[in-house]
Amino acid sequence: MSNFFNTRLEFLRSVGSQKGLLLGKELGLFTYGDLIQRYPFRYLDRTQFYNVCDLHEDLSHVQVKGMLRGKEVIGEGPKQRLIAKIGDGSGELEVVWFKGVKFIQHVLKNNTEYIVFGKPTMFNGRPQMAHPEVEEVTEAKPGQSFLQPMYNTSEKLKNYHRLDSKAIMRMVGELLTLAKSHITESLSPGLMQHYGLMSKAQALQQIHFPQNSDLLQAARFRLKFEELFYVQLKLLRQKDQRKAVLAGQIFKEVPTLVDFYKNHLTFDLTGAQKRVIHDIYKDFCNGKQMNRLLQGDVGSGKTIVAFISMLMAADNGAQSCLMAPTEILADQHYQGLKVYADQLGINLGKLTGSTPTRERRVLHEQLRSGEMHMLVGTHALLEDVVQFRNLGLTIMDEQHRFGVAQRSKLWQKNPHVIPHVLVMTATPIPRTLAMTLYGDLDVSVIDELPAGRKPIVTVHRYDTNRLKVFQFIRDQVALGRQVYIVYPLIEESETLDYKDLTDGYESVSRAFPEYQISIVHGRMKAEEKDYEMARFVKRETQIMVATTVIEVGVNVPNASVMVIESAERFGLSQLHQLRGRVGRGADQSYCILMTGFKLSKDSRTRLETMVRTNNGFEIADIDLKLRGPGDLMGTQQSGVLDLLIADLAKDGRILSESRAAAQALLANDPELTHPDNGNIRHHIESLPATAVNWSRIS
Ligand code: ADP
Ligand code: MG
Repeated sequence: MSNFFNTRLEFLRSVGSQKGLLLGKELGLFTYGDLIQRYPFRYLDRTQFYNVCDLHEDLSHVQVKGMLRGKEVIGEGPKQRLIAKIGDGSGELEVVWFKGVKFIQHVLKNNTEYIVFGKPTMFNGRPQMAHPEVEEVTEAKPGQSFLQPMYNTSEKLKNYHRLDSKAIMRMVGELLTLAKSHITESLSPGLMQHYGLMSKAQALQQIHFPQNSDLLQAARFRLKFEELFYVQLKLLRQKDQRKAVLAGQIFKEVPTLVDFYKNHLTFDLTGAQKRVIHDIYKDFCNGKQMNRLLQGDVGSGKTIVAFISMLMAADNGAQSCLMAPTEILADQHYQGLKVYADQLGINLGKLTGSTPTRERRVLHEQLRSGEMHMLVGTHALLEDVVQFRNLGLTIMDEQHRFGVAQRSKLWQKNPHVIPHVLVMTATPIPRTLAMTLYGDLDVSVIDELPAGRKPIVTVHRYDTNRLKVFQFIRDQVALGRQVYIVYPLIEESETLDYKDLTDGYESVSRAFPEYQISIVHGRMKAEEKDYEMARFVKRETQIMVATTVIEVGVNVPNASVMVIESAERFGLSQLHQLRGRVGRGADQSYCILMTGFKLSKDSRTRLETMVRTNNGFEIADIDLKLRGPGDLMGTQQSGVLDLLIADLAKDGRILSESRAAAQALLANDPELTHPDNGNIRHHIESLPATAVNWSRIS
């Protein structure tokens, strides 16, 4: 859009300097461009008139057209009110005012036709409307049908400055008239034809003042398409640029890996694992820096893929590190991989917050000299003192737990060649979101579980059935299985939750005096946690009472029951993560969701979804719909979600189409030099440069 849209709002006649300031401060509206892109959040249907006889209380706002058949002021003082009667042949509507009685009484004329618009209620069986909007029907204004835009505004603006939705509507109306000749088309004729898109000028007009719902739909589609198209175009171009620019080390030789496959790996890799390893190997051979997202549901076997990638680095003289979000998880990775590393003559170290200073110094030295080949750890890895001789690969497990800034620190650990990056997540990111958030990453998916796993049976039980649940636990433990019982721990109410947990621990101890019980929670020291965790892994304890610290990654194949207390307080993805702690061995596993009777609609949906499906992607999709994308996995920081009109939870199809369009465009005309793409080139040039460096978000 041209300079016209940078004009400050105060230059509109309906705004002026005082309101201009307020709009900026309260609503973030500063320029013509801001206002024209502040789309209505909904529309009042004023396309049809209701017959008075059809009015009932369940209707929202409706309009009625009829003759004013009389008006009367009733009552005294604060009880005073004006009652008018509007008749339309089908019946009579009572219209009531408690405020502004004198003024309105004066304005309303008997035996005149009016349109009244408001929310109907029933009073003694008769339809009534309080404080409706009223408009006289005249020849100039015969009462056209239309959809009335509703704009968000603030309480302050509404109550003290009369800047309500209608006032904003008038401003937009004035602006649209002025703007007509300044709106330039931002999409190419080819795209518009192919996707049947309405012009930008028409779309802006129709989104604010739709003539009918079909045109409104078309306008919304056009604006969403454009918005998502430019997000995708930007991400795809940056991905291409990054690939063209950043070199990566080449890891072609694989002697140790071959040894590992032949002599030490105790199971067959799944087809999906092999495919992903092949993706990664191809990246390692092409001389470009890898930036890959590995998605795989809980238990799909991502850790071994990480280790195999690290072996490829080691085979080519490069170091690698694997970073986990919690101490417990780092420890488990270390224990699991150490066995393999020792067999292969690879030096594998561990560095976490609780590594003693002396060990730490030795480790730092070994990393600098190159003696240490692989490092597993927590965010302690990020500290500046941790320097490598030649870091070639960094892997982040459960990556959504790490902030963007933390991640970019890992890049700086090799000043010569940026390390390859593999980020792994078991939070299956819905396709639509992945395409937007990670549009500049390559994505691999492990969509297959190792053979022989039985699907987890999930049930929902009310707290009143606790005794039966305990009996079930007892039966399972008698069969030699282990059990998790998880309590919520949410920061705002930490003290309360802590009490829930300790109460729970006591009642479990009382119910199972014959068994050993572990407890793990966030307030314990790392050593204590590790000690308890280790006892559970070694089967010294049968029941683990814990908070969500066990949520990610922890792997105890003999554990076959996951009981989640106050399950309604967990998000869907979190429930799925927790459930993923069981079902890792050959035994049938169970997940029991405990709740009270009082449940919100969303809670019910979450519980029903868990009971119905084990499919992480389906769950992620529903989670996205329930929560909206802003809530998911640290997406807030990314900035991509500042969308004006598109909704990632709902507009998956438009997103796919716009992405395909952007890909096709870049394939055919990467420099956008073709005359047909002039609109697109101009539009990109007019966009403000963003501060976010996309290529570094990984
Ligand atoms: P996640 O993807 O959740 O991180 P893990 O890497 O922890 O999963 O793997 C879960 C379990 O499955 C581990 O015990 C691992 O050794 C085992 N595993 C991984 N791949 C296979 C396979 N192809 N066949 C059998 N077991 C496997
Ligand atoms: Mg894992």
